[in-house]
Amino acid sequence: MTAVPQYFHVLAKPTGAICNLDCKYCFFLSKEMLYPGSRFRMADDLLEEYIKQMIESQHVPEVTISWQGGEPTLMGLDFFRRSIELEKKYQKPGTTISNTMQTNGILINDEWCEFFKQNNFLIGLSIDGTKELHDFYRVDKGGHGTFDKVVNAARLMQKHEVDFNLLTTVHAHNADHPLEIYRFFRDELKSRHIQFIPIVERDNATGFQEGNKVTDRSVSAQQWGNFLITIFDEWVRRDVGEVYVQMFDAALASWYGENPAMCIFGEKCGKALAMEHNGDLYSCDHFVEPKYLLGNIMEKSMLDLISSEKQMNFGNDKLDTLPKYCLECKVRFACHGECPKNRFIETPDGEPGLNYLCEGYKAFFMHVDMPMKFMAQKLRMNQAPSDIVQFYREEDKRIRELFAGAERNDLCPCGSGKKFKHCHGKSFAE
Ligand code: SF4
Ligand code: SF4
Repeated sequence: MTAVPQYFHVLAKPTGAICNLDCKYCFFLSKEMLYPGSRFRMADDLLEEYIKQMIESQHVPEVTISWQGGEPTLMGLDFFRRSIELEKKYQKPGTTISNTMQTNGILINDEWCEFFKQNNFLIGLSIDGTKELHDFYRVDKGGHGTFDKVVNAARLMQKHEVDFNLLTTVHAHNADHPLEIYRFFRDELKSRHIQFIPIVERDNATGFQEGNKVTDRSVSAQQWGNFLITIFDEWVRRDVGEVYVQMFDAALASWYGENPAMCIFGEKCGKALAMEHNGDLYSCDHFVEPKYLLGNIMEKSMLDLISSEKQMNFGNDKLDTLPKYCLECKVRFACHGECPKNRFIETPDGEPGLNYLCEGYKAFFMHVDMPMKFMAQKLRMNQAPSDIVQFYREEDKRIRELFAGAERNDLCPCGSGKKFKHCHGKSFAE
């Protein structure tokens, strides 16, 4: 047994892998095979044990209970009413308990929204962009697009003033439409919190993190970098302080010298686990595989499982297996080799364990270096990072004057040899 963590995060899956959609890239649907014959519903005694252990074993002022799937709303509202009842029963004086849920939005109606609002749930709503982009992969069991229902869920949550984030998976089909997606979220859905997750889907029969081939639904490293950079360039010129993009917030934390809130950019793993509908606790949501099963919380306490040597090794491996190429990388402090699930390619000198998305991350982190330094410095001076919007306004004006007359397809007057639109012209918002 090793050191006991002060805090940890668990994604609980009350319906296991069961979902009312059939998204073509979903990595979790195949997990159903891990529990043949199961009803895939978290039982009441497990729910109580889970809430009790989550609250009792953490020594932080705020405990977060996070529901995920599959699709957690399939449990029905009464399950979540009961979880709130149990939270109140076990709540420690001086602590607060917050609840989050990731949902596809299909079942969300006024009643759900009233419940979310009343109990301060933070909801993550999965949406992949505009109708055509979303409906390409996010389909129901009959193969029909789900966009209209998801947008309806967003509007309902707005009506009831429920806090929600939009969560977008970036894949081969939508990756080349960054501004279309971002502007739709910002201007049409009026969203102020946005998360992007790259789809890197291994092409194998097991559904586990094995092999080094990816499906053609996966985003490429270059697309991923370009997606982030393009949205960043728009965000930094007009939306800082108004729209929160989780990836940009995480980067700013790294430049400021704090730990980013996203585990993928942390130095080590190990504190973001996943629990199945029957109480089986796994090292991470992306490693719900027999090899990473720590045990069942009805048989052994969650704290014992999390502080086990197996989980400590899982956490430390993220740092210990970093290739030399990453160790020497200029942006390692912000990237840390990203998530180990994506580390299956070789470095240029043949060392295994490089992240499949490396090229994209490197491009993105190098691109944001100057503005991140600017914003981190503002934070240190107790000033608003959003001052950068004004900085860019003046800078863009200066560049416009400097490059007056240059057409988008001309060679850039700076002498880079690139077209103006791919060089200094790129920085002007379209
Ligand atoms: S394996 Fe990836 S998702 Fe899991 S804890 Fe580590 S960085 Fe986070
Ligand atoms: S950008 Fe690439 S080389 Fe640098 S730390 Fe990330 S994965 Fe490693």
